[in-house]
Amino acid sequence: MAVERETKAQRVERIKREKNPWDLLPDIQRWATTGFDSIPPEDLDVRLRAWGIYTQGDGAGVRGKHVPYFMLRIRIANGALFAHQMRVIAQLAARYARGVADITDRQNIQLHWIRTEDIPEILERLQQVGLTSLGACGDVVRNVTGCPLAGIDHEELVDASPLVYEVNRLLNGNREFSNLPRKFKITVSGCKHWCTNPEINDVGFTAVRRGDEVGFHVQVGGGLSSRPFMAVKLNAFVPWHRVLPVAKAIAEIFRDSDVLRENRAKARLKFMFLDLGWDADAFLAEVEKRAGFKLDPAVPEEVPNDTYRDHVGVHPQAQPDLYYAGFTVPTGRISAEQLEAFAGLAEQFGQGRLRTTLMQNIVVLDIPAARLTEFRAAAAVALPFFALDEASVFHRGVLACTGSEFCKLALTETKAFGSKLADELQERLPHFNRHLKINLTGCPNSCGQHWISDVGLMGIQVKGDDGSLVDGYEFFLGGGLGAHASFGRRVAFKVRANDVAEALARLIQAFEETGENSESFREWAVRQNEEQLAGYLRTVAARAAD
Ligand code: SF4
Repeated sequence: MAVERETKAQRVERIKREKNPWDLLPDIQRWATTGFDSIPPEDLDVRLRAWGIYTQGDGAGVRGKHVPYFMLRIRIANGALFAHQMRVIAQLAARYARGVADITDRQNIQLHWIRTEDIPEILERLQQVGLTSLGACGDVVRNVTGCPLAGIDHEELVDASPLVYEVNRLLNGNREFSNLPRKFKITVSGCKHWCTNPEINDVGFTAVRRGDEVGFHVQVGGGLSSRPFMAVKLNAFVPWHRVLPVAKAIAEIFRDSDVLRENRAKARLKFMFLDLGWDADAFLAEVEKRAGFKLDPAVPEEVPNDTYRDHVGVHPQAQPDLYYAGFTVPTGRISAEQLEAFAGLAEQFGQGRLRTTLMQNIVVLDIPAARLTEFRAAAAVALPFFALDEASVFHRGVLACTGSEFCKLALTETKAFGSKLADELQERLPHFNRHLKINLTGCPNSCGQHWISDVGLMGIQVKGDDGSLVDGYEFFLGGGLGAHASFGRRVAFKVRANDVAEALARLIQAFEETGENSESFREWAVRQNEEQLAGYLRTVAARAAD
């Protein structure tokens, strides 16, 4: 009789059931002496992820293979760091990660090239300063994101960061939530600009005013990947003190949806709406049942336009005479020395507070007005490669996922390509000064969020001159969130990575020539038909091949 093979989903579920991934610390400590090869496949592929630890690619882009090193992701709730914490990350990057780190689009910081024998020491150093990698990957509640300007922004409705920390504490490390069907992403924003992208989170709380009271609206089930879905808004006003039980109830609904566990590709909350017949009313009723209370209906609100907000430059805080300074970190790639320099600036000029942003940047807080000139001079010396207000719109706008350098699923390299693309666009279009989001993603999984940017570039393999496969990109244009939320339109045009800058420059020139005065790139792109867009993109090489 034929023996039925376990599906991928069944294997992962079995492994998680057999041993709670959060009980792995003694094993991690043991493997540090017995070595990489002694780690059982079940732990390597599944359980270690719940510790924010993933096997990585070889650094040179050989696809689909891992090497005996790890990526270790440090979870940073609300992106909030103190200088001493950033200094420890800098030291870990220098000592264990070949001097480099990556800021992610969920405010985390990733290290690569981590050796098995160094993991216990790294985990301990992080713990000593109140940081952790626990729950940064795997089938758990991932880092809870929040507005990088929480508590210092002029326009925020409320400083929601205490809720971010509370939700983080409640759900991460909690054994009740150590085995979800897949990853689960939550954001809480107290700001009216929604720059934490609630529409693409599993749970997005956004502050809203009801008379004198500030509470929250909540949307659920958002996500990207190869089948993007905008979150569904629940008709509920969630008072501040109800945010935690509501977040917990939603996480429970997800955890208990056993049908989602049958297929890893469909194990996200959005598939309850896409495939399982749930709607917003039924979902809210289930939330209220589990939470044990009814919620008032939602109140009228103004959904923000898709404002460009990278928090770069020097701007006043809500606190009198204090400023924040946001630095562009193109593609999020940063060296240990630069992390150390940021920590030094925050200590020397501020109160030691820093934030990472969802556009992979760093913000230094609390700089006194009287010291701004001195601060700018010191920053120019300490961080000559980063700019405050001077970075080009292209360097500011580029965001990139990990790509084939370290990600085993990637089809293309993204980090170096993203920086080079910004350089080339700046060279070709030095006068262009309109904000433009260019999101790069090395495969359809969309970690670089190509669906929701002005220009989304998704990595593919295309034929090179000699017929061999080389890195290439597909274009997704006019995506965005907010009042006119829509996913980028896939344009029927593929190009080699080397030709992307030329294609994009032609497209931007067409926007300059034919766009109306106040029109954003996104509005213009939405107005064009696909043939027009493909025509603008067509490069010299592509035209020659026609
Ligand atoms: Fe890797 Fe693809 Fe995600 Fe990029 S989008 S990090 S290549 S899985």
